[in-house]
Amino acid sequence: MGGFGYVNYLEFWKVCGFLLCLLTCPLLAELRDVVIMQTTDMHGVFEEEDSPQPGSWLRIATMVKRIRQREEGKCILVDCGDNAQGTLATALSRGMAGILPLKTMNYDVWVPGNHELDYGVERFGELTDAVNDIVLCGNLYIKGKEPFPAWRMFERNGVKVAVIGVSASYAKNWLLAEEYDKLHVEKAFQTLERILPQVHQAKPDAIVLAAHQAWFEGSDTRGVNEISTIAKCFPEIDVILGAHSHRLLSGQRLGRRSWYMQPGCHGEYLGVVRVTVDTERHAVVSVEGAMQAVKVDVAEDEELRDALSDYLTAAKAERNRLIKGSLARPVKSYGRPGVSCETSELICRALAEATGATVVLHGRLSKKDLPAGHVTGQDLFELVPYENSIVTADVTREELAAIVAEQSRHKTHYSYCGLWGADAKIGKSAETAVITALWKGEWPANGRVKLALNNHTAAGSGRFTVLRSILDKPECHTTDTKIMTRDAVEAYLAKRENLVISVGR
Ligand SMILES: [Zn+2]
Repeated sequence: MGGFGYVNYLEFWKVCGFLLCLLTCPLLAELRDVVIMQTTDMHGVFEEEDSPQPGSWLRIATMVKRIRQREEGKCILVDCGDNAQGTLATALSRGMAGILPLKTMNYDVWVPGNHELDYGVERFGELTDAVNDIVLCGNLYIKGKEPFPAWRMFERNGVKVAVIGVSASYAKNWLLAEEYDKLHVEKAFQTLERILPQVHQAKPDAIVLAAHQAWFEGSDTRGVNEISTIAKCFPEIDVILGAHSHRLLSGQRLGRRSWYMQPGCHGEYLGVVRVTVDTERHAVVSVEGAMQAVKVDVAEDEELRDALSDYLTAAKAERNRLIKGSLARPVKSYGRPGVSCETSELICRALAEATGATVVLHGRLSKKDLPAGHVTGQDLFELVPYENSIVTADVTREELAAIVAEQSRHKTHYSYCGLWGADAKIGKSAETAVITALWKGEWPANGRVKLALNNHTAAGSGRFTVLRSILDKPECHTTDTKIMTRDAVEAYLAKRENLVISVGR
């Protein structure tokens, strides 16, 4: 990705005013610049082994040091979240390895992302406590704890930059009620309405919004990402640093004048933006940015490697660990869950065995195929890269049918789950479904069977609203077993030699 240039000029009349001011009082106008560097959605990619592409924390650390040297006294370093999940090192440390670079590299701002909640709200509190002096997050906090600050003023090179932090505001649909109830969450829009008057009072020269949310072209029907609306309604925001969707958006103007960038994911790019300000008028004159690709010839930073060494050593051992049991042939991830996908079949069998559930609803969590023979810790992690736990619920035949029909309406989506343990007949256009038989035995006399699924699916994602409303009924006794999906798959494999996975009953 080459560099690019973009100048965010003020509206015509402001430009006129500015020129007039330059003509009449040339000594008053002073142009000064600050450099904002952004990382986001790093997902625990520390070193070369963690990703097929060259980007990593260790290489970005080197680039950040160089820029700080070159632009001494001008830099603000911001990370927009999703650091705690993604690799073995983050999984083994329950997120802490992913937080450590923020400390070691002296970040100025960290906005937590939704994946920081993957180990539960309590752990989220520990992860944010570990870097509490840099967290900015105005729209989400843990009930009973001090709310995070929403914004902070930074003075660099004589320029006052107000940085505001907001996280994703969609946790209600990503977490089970028992976890979500521990949080206070509001829309980022509301936060901005609330705090922008204070920000203005402090007379910043530039306003930056760092968000764990993304911009999308077109409409976001679920309302997960508020950036488009924010840019439209709050034109006083000069720069928006985005995240969450993992897209590379090198820099563009949003709304009337806000400038937006989002440096992809996994450390492939470092976002660098230079903001030039007229400090007399407290106004931004230009914004120029570039995405700097993290290339293979950038040296890894030894200081950060030292700081991470315990975590990296533990990850290496786990990567090479041989899991008990063996596979007679590979387990393939292609095909449709519940019909022809072997990965989904393996996970469903493991969930049923771990919980005693009669029926399971699951899909694949990645495109990973397991090789024949022995499976390593790395293989298992790639098969189940999320910190999912298993949820059970007692459902009636009609409820299960409604859940299956809803899944079927999203069968092309990556989060689609197939049915295991029962046969279903799905009506045309998947408006309805009928459960025709259980694979084992008759439908129980009490009318309910135990269903197992993962906690993320159970939360509904705002997509599976029928499922969520059924699981919210008290008579379903929806329970987070706290058994982790990865552990269940490992236990299932460990009991078997020369295992063959064929799909269906
Ligand atoms: Zn992410």
